[in-house]
Parts: sequence; structure tokens; C-alpha cells
Amino acid sequence: MENILDNAVQNGKKITVLGKTASYIPELGRVNKEYLGVCVCTGNGIYHKSGDADVRFTIQSISKVISLAVALERCGFEKTFDRVGMEPSGDSFDSLVKLDLTSDYPSNPMINSGAIAIASHLVSEVSFEKMLWFTRKLCVDDDITLDEKVYRSEMDHISRNKAIAYLLESKGILANSVEESLDFYVRMCSLSVTAASLAGFGLVLASGGIHPVTGERLLHSRVVQTVKTIMLTCGMYDGSGRFAVEVGVPSKSGVGGGILSVVDKRMGIGIFGPSLDEKGNSLAGQYVLRELSSILKLHMFADYEGE
Ligand code: GLN
Repeated sequence: MENILDNAVQNGKKITVLGKTASYIPELGRVNKEYLGVCVCTGNGIYHKSGDADVRFTIQSISKVISLAVALERCGFEKTFDRVGMEPSGDSFDSLVKLDLTSDYPSNPMINSGAIAIASHLVSEVSFEKMLWFTRKLCVDDDITLDEKVYRSEMDHISRNKAIAYLLESKGILANSVEESLDFYVRMCSLSVTAASLAGFGLVLASGGIHPVTGERLLHSRVVQTVKTIMLTCGMYDGSGRFAVEVGVPSKSGVGGGILSVVDKRMGIGIFGPSLDEKGNSLAGQYVLRELSSILKLHMFADYEGE
């Protein structure tokens, strides 16, 4: 396994020059774009790592998976999907076009508008401290903290998300003020994880919501089923379709360079590669996942025996 990971990372490093870090959040723009790390977590929590798998970076949009899961646990399926749809948007993650023109609620919980709507409802349900505590559990990583610098940097450059939040408010979708909703949303985006933490989280989802080491149930299986399906259809924004065809593994990306992938019943995979493509997905990270999918036979619809 380690050899396969090392090869993928070595080759992936070569294409990190072709992408860009997320400079619309200045603190993310400053990150070295040559970083590339992968971690695969299997069995009862056995970690296989290569490259920069222990470097901390902010979780960004991958937190949308956690917020959706907690909303489903606390508010239930009906109430949650009253405010946000479950269809891929086909637009960029920070778009507000469809929300303004053709729909009265966000397309799905994996784009900014959907996650801000969910955050506004979570504000009334659960404290940020509780969310941090639960994120540590889900990621099997007690060292996750709020990255104050990235949090500040995003809060100081929040205009676009503020525009989305006001549009949501005008449509009656927010349950709390624009300020409270955005503060909760940006805090969740600013949690510092590693590729290894994401791999741990991936294994919890691959195991149907059970903690791989303690055996404790962290999420209901129906919640995990819903979350994984939405990751497959919407997790890579307007790159979700091609990614599903090529990799065939439910995944969620973030502009910090992370990707969380779930190979059902088998493993969790975490990626850190802050050099992004034009859609905001880790460029080399997607390369590594294409390689792993083909070598380790991970595509959920492939007929490997029949080939
Ligand atoms: N915090 C980021 C934002 O709202 C998250 C976006 C992302 O990771 N795609 O713009």
C-alpha cells in the first residue's frame, strides 16, 4: 500500500504547479501549493500515509458534510430538506444565480448557499464548541482547533457569502441573523485538520457511522447513507459528474486543498493538496484519487472481475 501511495504522490507533485491556491481568502493564498499528502485509513483504524499527510490545513467546505450530518441528526430528514434541495447545482460553489432566478431554496447542502442555510438553523440547535468536539470525534483527531488566522482572513473578505446570506434571508430561509449564520459557517470552515483526520472521518462514514476503534455509533446509518449519496452527486461542485465517472467514490472537497473520500465498507481516504483547479478542487488530489481508484479497484460501479 505505502508504495502505491508514494508513487501517486510523487507523480502528483509534478502537476501542483498547474493550479492555484484559494487567494480569495488571503491566508489560504499564502499556503505553499507544492504540498501534497494522502492518507488511507482501513480496518480498525490503520493509517497508511504518504507525503504531507500530517500537515494541518483548514477543512473549508468539507465541514459541510459534518454540518449536514448534524442537521439530519438534530432536525430530521423532512425539516432539513425543507430548506435545502438535494440536486447538483451545476454551478460554482459560491454561485447565487439559481437561488436568485429559478429557485426559492439552495440546490444542495454542499455549496455555500446550502451550507449557510443549514448553519443558520444549527445556530439554534448546537454551540460551535459542541460542533468542534463532535468533529474531533468524527475525525478521530483530538488536535483539531479553530485556525484563528484563516477565520479572520475569511471574515475580512466575506462580501460574496454575505450577499448569498442576505439573498437567503430575503427568501425567508435563514433561522438566525446573517451575522450569526455566517460566523457559525466560517468557524466550521476554519477547523484545522490533516489528510489523516479526513481519512479517519472517511472510515467512520465507510463503516456506516461507527467509530472504527471504540465501536461507538456516532451517526445513524440512514444519516450516513444520505450524506454519502449527496457527496457522490454534489461533493465536487460542478466537477461532481466527471469525478464520479472517473473515480467512482463519494467525495467532498474544500478550497483549503482537502478531499474526503469514502470507499464503502473498506476505507476512508484523506487528501491535502492546496493547488486547485478552476472549480476549486485539489488538482493533484484528484489525480491521486484517480490513480488509487484504478490501482486499488475502488470504483463503486466497476466490474473488476468481468474485465
Ligand atoms: N469557506 C469557503 C467559502 O465559503 C469554503 C468554500 C469551499 O471550500 N469551496 O468560500
